[in-house]
Amino acid sequence: MGGRGRPRLPQGDVACVACDHEGMSGESDPPRVRPHLTALPGYEPVTPVDQLAARAGVDVTDVLKLDANENPFGASDAVQRAVAECRGWSVYPDPLQLDLRAALAGYAGVTPERVVAGAGSDELIELTVRALVGPGQRVVSCPPTFGMYRFLCDVAAIPLDEVERGADFGIDVEAVLAAIRPETALVILASPNNPSGTPLRDDALAALLGSGATIAVDEAYGEYAGTSALERFGDHPRLIVFRTFSKWAGLAGLRAGYGVFHPDLASVLLRIKQPYNVNLAAEVAMRAAIDAKDELLAQAAQVVEERGALARDIGALGWLTPYPSSANFLLCAVEGGSPDAGARLHAALAERGVFVRYFGTPRLRDCVRISCPRPDQHEALMTHLRAAGAGLGLA
Ligand SMILES: *Cc1c(COP(=O)(O)O)cnc(C)c1O
Repeated sequence: MGGRGRPRLPQGDVACVACDHEGMSGESDPPRVRPHLTALPGYEPVTPVDQLAARAGVDVTDVLKLDANENPFGASDAVQRAVAECRGWSVYPDPLQLDLRAALAGYAGVTPERVVAGAGSDELIELTVRALVGPGQRVVSCPPTFGMYRFLCDVAAIPLDEVERGADFGIDVEAVLAAIRPETALVILASPNNPSGTPLRDDALAALLGSGATIAVDEAYGEYAGTSALERFGDHPRLIVFRTFSKWAGLAGLRAGYGVFHPDLASVLLRIKQPYNVNLAAEVAMRAAIDAKDELLAQAAQVVEERGALARDIGALGWLTPYPSSANFLLCAVEGGSPDAGARLHAALAERGVFVRYFGTPRLRDCVRISCPRPDQHEALMTHLRAAGAGLGLA
C-alpha cells in the first residue's frame, strides 16, 4: 500500500466504492458467496438405494436400481480381493501414478506419458476445463447430454454454448462447427452419449478435429460400444478421451477414471491436480480390474446382449419405444402418452421398487432412461413395466 498505509475500510452496510460489492457484511452475516454461485441448483443427485427402498416401502433386496447406469453385476471378486488384501493404507499414494498410469496405458493401447488418472472421470473433465478454458473463453457441448458438463461450466462461470442434437440424438455437425469460435477452448461430447446411447460417428469427429478446436470425447460407456476414438484418431494432438471404471468395471463408488491426452497437456494436468487425487483403494482396484479385464469384458458383452433382449421386449410392449443404444442403458419414449408421460411412468415404477432415470427437460419429458439389468432380472423388470403401463392406461 506504498507509504500511505492501509485504506480505512467502510463499516457496516456502507456501499463499497472500490468494487461492485453492495457493501460490507454486518458482523453476524455469513461469508459473501460469489454471486454466480448463489443461484446454482447443484448437480441433481441420484438418491441412495436404501432411501429409495424405504420411500417405496419395499425390501432393498427386491429393488431394481436402474437409474445410474451402474454395473448390475457389481465389482468382480478379483477386485474385491485385491482391495481387501491391500495393507498400504497408512502411506500416501504415488502422486505421479507411475505404476497405475503404465497399467492404464497398456489397457488403453497408448503410451503412459499420455495418461492421467483421477477420482472418477468427472475429476479429469474438471481439471481439463481448468487447464484449457481461460477468462473470456467458452465451451461447446451437445444436449441432451451428461449434466456434468453444464454443472462444471456453471460452477466455473464459463459460458457454455449448447448445440441441440438432432431427432436421432446424433450431433448436428454443421451447427457444432458454426458454434466453434476463436474463443472456444474445448468441445466436449459423450460417445456413446448419455442419456441417448448414441455413438459419435467417425466422420463427425474427423470434421470437428479438422476445425482446429480441441475435442474431448467422453467414453464412459466405451466398453459397451466396442469402439473408441483412440482407434482412428489416437494420434491427433487435440483429441482428448475420458474413460472411467465406474460403469464397465463396477467401481462407481470408488471413484476411478482416467483420460488420454497429448503428452504436454497430460504433463500440465499432473502438475495442477491434487497430488493424492486417486486414493490407494481406487488405484489397487483399477489395476486389479485391468488384470481381470477378460472376465469383466465378457460381463460387459452379457450386458450388451441383455440390451438387445430388453430393446426387443420393450418395443413389443407397444407403448414404450427404445432409442438405439451403444451403451448399457436404453432411453425409452412413451408413445401416445401425455407430455408428462415420462414422469408418470417414472413414478409408477418407483412405487413398485423399480428406479429408472427421469429428466424433466422439455425434450425428454416423455422419456425414461433404463439401465440394463442382469439377464436374471430381465423378467422381473418386464413384469413391472407391464403392470405400470396397465396402471397408467398405456397398455
Ligand atoms: C457416468 C458418466 C461419467 C462418470 O464418470 P465417473 O468416472 O464416475 O466420474 C462420465 N461421463 C458420462 C457421460 C457418464 O455417463
